[in-house]
Amino acid sequence: MLRDKIINAINEVGFDEYQEISSVDINFADAVFASCKTNTCGNYGQNYSCPPLSGDMDANKQRFLKYDHAIILNKIMFLGEYYEKMETSTMEVLALLDQLRDKLEADPVMIAGPGGCNLCPECAAKTVENCRFPEKKRYSLEGSGIDIVAMSRKLGMTYNAGDKKVGFFMMVLY
Ligand code: SF4
Repeated sequence: MLRDKIINAINEVGFDEYQEISSVDINFADAVFASCKTNTCGNYGQNYSCPPLSGDMDANKQRFLKYDHAIILNKIMFLGEYYEKMETSTMEVLALLDQLRDKLEADPVMIAGPGGCNLCPECAAKTVENCRFPEKKRYSLEGSGIDIVAMSRKLGMTYNAGDKKVGFFMMVLY
């Protein structure tokens, strides 16, 4: 059963929390989608998994809602006394997501995470070439207009763990 395989893979890779929901309960918010335009992450218009290249809100909803189920994952990371570990923590989380993607490569799942797709050292969008791996592209939760912070609170998951530790959220859809 696919659900059991995904849960096994989640446990093998090692995340701190997960919650299972129906995809119809994903919280899409226009304000989250719009915030990408002024975000300083540098991915707006520079990554195929982020706005505006990833499509409008309708396209984002369709992309997620074609799956029935979603599993929200959380990995709690220490950001450093002066938040100096922000980048390395993000890279560590994305490495976990890559491990999960490898384990589920042959399965009909979609994995979304924090920030833009990092499959290539530099996204082809930056040089106006076609996406190199459209089937493997990893979409951004926030860039898809998903209010993952509100969802995590509602689900009782840990966003602010105190002592400079925060939750990084990801999602597996199947
Ligand atoms: S697979 Fe490569 S080219 Fe495609 S969105 Fe990801 S980083 Fe960009």
